[in-house]
Amino acid sequence: MAYVDHRVTRATRGESVVIVGGGWAGMQAAAVLSRAGVPVTVCEGGPVLGGRARRVRFGNVSLDNGQHLMLGAYRETLGAIAECGAGQPGLDRRRLRLETCDGARIVCPALPSPFHLVAALAGAKGLSVADKWAALRMMASLRASGFQLPDPVSVERLLRDFRQPAGVRRTLWDPLCVAALNTEPGKADARIFLNVLRDSLAGARAASDLVFAKTDLSAIFPEPAARVVRDRGNAVALTTTVRAIDVSTSGFDVTTSRGRLSCTHVICATDPARAPLLLDGLPDMQRITERIAGMRHESIVTVYLAYDPPIRLPGPMIGDPAGPAQWFFDRDALNGQKGWLAGVISAADGWHARDRAELARSVGRQCQRAFGHRRQPVASHVVTERRATFACEPGLERPGVRTPLPRLFLAGDYTEPEYPATLESAVRSGTRSAEAILETL
Ligand SMILES: Cc1cc2nc3c(=O)[nH]c(=O)nc-3n(C[C@H](O)[C@H](O)[C@H](O)COP(=O)(O)OP(=O)(O)OC[C@H]3O[C@@H](n4cnc5c(N)ncnc54)[C@H](O)[C@@H]3O)c2cc1C
Repeated sequence: MAYVDHRVTRATRGESVVIVGGGWAGMQAAAVLSRAGVPVTVCEGGPVLGGRARRVRFGNVSLDNGQHLMLGAYRETLGAIAECGAGQPGLDRRRLRLETCDGARIVCPALPSPFHLVAALAGAKGLSVADKWAALRMMASLRASGFQLPDPVSVERLLRDFRQPAGVRRTLWDPLCVAALNTEPGKADARIFLNVLRDSLAGARAASDLVFAKTDLSAIFPEPAARVVRDRGNAVALTTTVRAIDVSTSGFDVTTSRGRLSCTHVICATDPARAPLLLDGLPDMQRITERIAGMRHESIVTVYLAYDPPIRLPGPMIGDPAGPAQWFFDRDALNGQKGWLAGVISAADGWHARDRAELARSVGRQCQRAFGHRRQPVASHVVTERRATFACEPGLERPGVRTPLPRLFLAGDYTEPEYPATLESAVRSGTRSAEAILETL
């Protein structure tokens, strides 16, 4: 997909855009439009920018609402971060290394594609020869078919059809599926999984890199994007909840918790759970609203544990197939937060409703088993995101950024057809919605 540069300021004829939601999608749309000289107001209901990828405070420590991981394949996200001035110094980029506490390890060497993948699988620890051969055969066959599937099937069915043995499923495919799609393989859309594999593992060598934020998630993109917006004389309003969008003679009237705004265009960049509340009742929007309201959601629980003296993990990101947390992250190694670990339970059905203290104890005990110690954390903080991502299921029909109303647009991870709910889909959708508006001016 071409990355369009809109830095050329264009004269507008009284147009103005209200963007509802200051997540990564809304802030990317706002930055693109601001650079193009379009008057923009962002209304964010919460006190912090970033939405589902934002800073949360725990005492004087800046944590995130969930540990996030980006890939080298997130071309538009990394481009957007760099363009807002928070590029390399804020990012920790490493060659792909997937390892588990029971000794399995897949490391991408510095070879050109596809040799990096062949060497990574051939040299993997914890996989039998049959496992490696099956994985290589599947990747070669998928590459030959352009990573396309004729029918919508689950990831589980795909892996069965390609006769993937239990070992390679447990060590590689199942954790990758849950990490990338936040949906269990039995329910996850194989086509979207293949898009992720095509663009990361099977892409250029650098596309499989793991990229971590060295600062908190609000500081890495949404806040620098807000500076771009404000520097161009536009507004970003926090704690400003949009209550209603109504069609007016000049475009729209937007009712917020702080007053009313008139504008010619609206981008609804809320999460999919809240979009229907604003869209319902607008003319011709019933089908889209029903489609969004029909999406199911998956939760993610992040358990932060602090140890004093610190526990250092053998790597910055270590898997544990035994669970409940599928991955542990060493926050000290990643962003210098001494003593802090993050345990992430993705597709957390059955966990998200539990008491936070109980979750902290369970993951604390898991940490002892996984890394062989008997230490107790000195502090813990649990963040439960009940609707972390939409459930990425086969045959899911997603709306695009355009709606039947020519001046009303959607943005958000759920509108990007190729990818699961990720920062990359959010940023892509923000760019697409802004581009769609620029086409109308
Ligand atoms: C715990 C967790 C871990 C994740 N891990 C990863 C990961 O490792 N890698 C990855 O790529 N992705 C990950 N994701 C997914 C990623 O965070 C999301 O896909 C992305 O942040 C979605 O951005 P968005 O802008 O589309 O939506 P949102 O972030 O949901 O933004 C919507 C914004 O709209 C605001 N809003 C809603 N209603 C209103 C209203 N009426 N008025 C004003 N404002 C309103 C909300 O407050 C919010 O700020 C994770 C998500 C979670 C929750």
